[in-house]
Formats: sequence, structure tokens, C-alpha cells
Amino acid sequence: MLTLALSKGRIFEETLPLLAAAGIVVTEDPEKTRKLILATNQPDVRVVLVRATDVPTYVQHGGADLGVAGKDVLIEHAAESDAAGLYQPLDLQIARCRMSVATRADFDYEAAVKQGSRIRVATKYTAVARQHFADKGVHVDLIKLYGSMELAPLTGLADAIVDLVSTGSTLKANKLVEVERIMDISSRLVVNQAALKLKRERIRALIAAFAGAIPANA
Ligand code: ATP
Ligand code: MG
Repeated sequence: MLTLALSKGRIFEETLPLLAAAGIVVTEDPEKTRKLILATNQPDVRVVLVRATDVPTYVQHGGADLGVAGKDVLIEHAAESDAAGLYQPLDLQIARCRMSVATRADFDYEAAVKQGSRIRVATKYTAVARQHFADKGVHVDLIKLYGSMELAPLTGLADAIVDLVSTGSTLKANKLVEVERIMDISSRLVVNQAALKLKRERIRALIAAFAGAIPANA
């Protein structure tokens, strides 16, 4: 049995064409069932649905043989635990976005940086944020949030946020501006190292099929 961990939503949707290239079709729709284990057209392949942030944990500890996780999630996971046994063979170029700093339009970020002010930054991505501001030599107070980061500058909780941006429409709807791009983000295939040894041929074939089907405009 080969178990693939995916999160519902964009990662699931964008992984489907890659699975199809490997001849794998998920036979149940995660939006229409409450099941957490989905069958495929191949009797020895199944998909488990987990939270995006739990994908590296499942794969690292063998709850799944492989999975798909964003670079954002993988960096934060590696900062929290040692990511031993987690192999990242392929950037799938799906779920692409960027990690950026955003502020209210009336907050002068450049001036605050230049003056060496202490900046209050709210984010779910504390490892990325800590590293980014340390590299710039900017002092920050990090405020850990688990969602709706956009609200933090609007309520006075923080001066800035570090968040994922794709079209920028969520920032715009909340009158925030992107003031700095930290890094480009995409999702990667992650593989359990023991599974790679034990199910070598099966996993190699899957990696090859995925590699051949990576979106070309990436
Ligand atoms: P939830 O939204 O359920 O709280 P989540 O934000 O962790 O969980 P998703 O929104 O499905 O889960 O995001 C999964 C991954 O997709 C993220 O880890 C990131 O790599 C990527 N992603 C997040 N937001 C965007 C976006 N706006 N555009 C493209 N990719 C994104
Ligand atoms: Mg989300």
C-alpha cells in the first residue's frame, strides 16, 4: 500500500493532474465526503486528508509514505522539529504564491527600517519572519497568530504582517500594502525516507511521472 498525504483545497486540486500523469485517479471527492481516507483507481494507492501544516509530520513519522506540502509549511516544520527522515525530491511548482511583508498604507515601513525602530510583526510564519528580519538587522517583536493575519495591523495589534500573497486581493480588500517580498513559495513532494527504501520502485516511478507533469509555465 502506498499512502499519500494531501490537504484539502488548492493542494489537493493541483495535485490531481500530477496523479493522473502517474495513472492515479482519486475516486472520491473530498468536498462531498466526510471520509479522511480516499480510495483511488489503484487498489494499492490511497490518499489521506490532513491539515496542510500536518503533512510533513505524517510523512516524517510514516503515517504516510509521501505528501505534498508548501515551502512555507516545510520551513516552519523544520524550525520546530528536526526534519530527519523527510526527503524532498521535487519542487512541484503548484500552489505558487509569495511570502511578503505587508502594512497599513499609512505605516512608513522603509522609514521604520531606516530609523532602526522596533517593529511589531504578526505572523503564522515565525521562523521565516525571524530569519528575514535578522538578515536585515531589523529588530522585531514577533506575535504568533494562526490565521487572519490581515486583521493585526487594522486593530493595532501589529505594525506589519508576514503572510502569503498570490493576487494581492485579500490585502487590497483590507487596505494593506505589500511592502517587501521575502521569498517565492511553491509546493514540494515530500517522501518518508524509510518508505523510499522499502517501496523504491513504486515511489521512483511516481516521482518520474510527477516530474514529467510539472506545470510548464512555472
Ligand atoms: P487553512 O486555510 O485551512 O487554514 P492553510 O492555509 O494551511 O489551511 P491552504 O490555504 O490550503 O491551507 O494552503 C496550503 C498551501 O498552499 C500553503 O501552505 C501555501 O504553500 C499555499 N498557499 C496558501 N495560500 C495561497 C495562495 N493564496 N495562493 C497560492 N498558494 C497558496
Ligand atoms: Mg489558507
